Amino acid sequence: MKAAVVPQLGSPLEIREVPVPEVTPGTVLIRTHACGVCHTDLHAANGDWPLKPTVPFIPGHEGVGEIVALGSGVDFVKLGSRVGVPWLHTACGRCEFCQTGWETLCARQQCTGYTINGGFAEYILADPNYLGFLPDGLDYVSAAPILCAGVTTYKGLKESEVRPGEWCAIVGIGGLGHLAVQYAKAMGMKVCAVARSNEKLDLAKKLGADMVVNSRDTSLAIQEVQDKLGGVHGALVTAVTNEAFGMTIGLLRRKGTMALVGLPPGDFPTPIFDVVLKRLTIRGSIVGNRKDLQEALDFAGEKKVASHAKTDKLENINQIFSDLEAGKINGRIVLDFANL
Ligand code: NAD
Ligand code: ZN
Ligand code: ZN
Repeated sequence: MKAAVVPQLGSPLEIREVPVPEVTPGTVLIRTHACGVCHTDLHAANGDWPLKPTVPFIPGHEGVGEIVALGSGVDFVKLGSRVGVPWLHTACGRCEFCQTGWETLCARQQCTGYTINGGFAEYILADPNYLGFLPDGLDYVSAAPILCAGVTTYKGLKESEVRPGEWCAIVGIGGLGHLAVQYAKAMGMKVCAVARSNEKLDLAKKLGADMVVNSRDTSLAIQEVQDKLGGVHGALVTAVTNEAFGMTIGLLRRKGTMALVGLPPGDFPTPIFDVVLKRLTIRGSIVGNRKDLQEALDFAGEKKVASHAKTDKLENINQIFSDLEAGKINGRIVLDFANL
């Protein structure tokens, strides 16, 4: 099968012919129809994070397709089922976190396209216990971004603790952010979209944002949000530069919560006095559990959210990565395998 492989961290991906993985007991094989390209794939290929993937590996954790083979013992999914393989590839199922709906925190988890090969390939091996099931009527290209960008922002919005009718800032309007705007609206929130380019702010407006703020000058952005709204009740940070995180503390109103999902390497300054006196909450949020994933897919199935996706070919993955790095992509790029 054809696959995009990371040969060395920091090197361009190579399109290689590699063997189709064989099903083992308890696994299923999926023929890939589409796979979104997440900024995490770029962090993975660059080796940006403290825990590095082992090379060579195949990235991609927004792969969707149909089940074409069942390993022995698999009796609860069917050949031909339309499914997606999310970041959370598998977990132990027994630890405290797995037992309480927090399988995303399992210390023994495997991550698709990171610790185990992912969706930038014509076939993907998966654990059927952790698949997302695609709603009828949701096509593969539209479904792919929900497998990571969708579930991650939907869960992150829950974690922001913003209630219907309250203000939520979405900081960074890329692959994750453009879906976050729509989930937040569908969840009844008032949305303040924050981005550095007017093109992204225009997209946010089109997708339902109630207010847009340009953050090229972070002090002005803070002032605008405080003057007009008295601060937001909560915020979701999807941006890939560290300055956006420090800025977001300034966007919050008293008692506000910010949920961090963007993962640029490094840290950001946290003013202790403000956090204490305003009783702010700064919280990390990592993808979502299986129920979050199914709910996120259902929102897309019911057309309450729709990814703004442009399709491209596996062969163009290095160009897609450089556009992603440069912040040039509006919405999500989805690799279309019908188009290889
Ligand atoms: P993306 O490149 O599509 O979008 C990031 C956006 O942030 C871009 O539009 C960029 O212009 C914008 N941005 C950068 N600096 C900004 C600033 N100072 N102010 C406002 N906007 C700014 O990337 P993506 O696929 O949406 O992923 C975003 C981040 O989320 C990545 O770091 C990725 O690894 C991470 N991520 C985390 C999880 C999780 O579970 N926590 C899941 C998926 C992705
Ligand atoms: Zn992702
Ligand atoms: Zn576990």
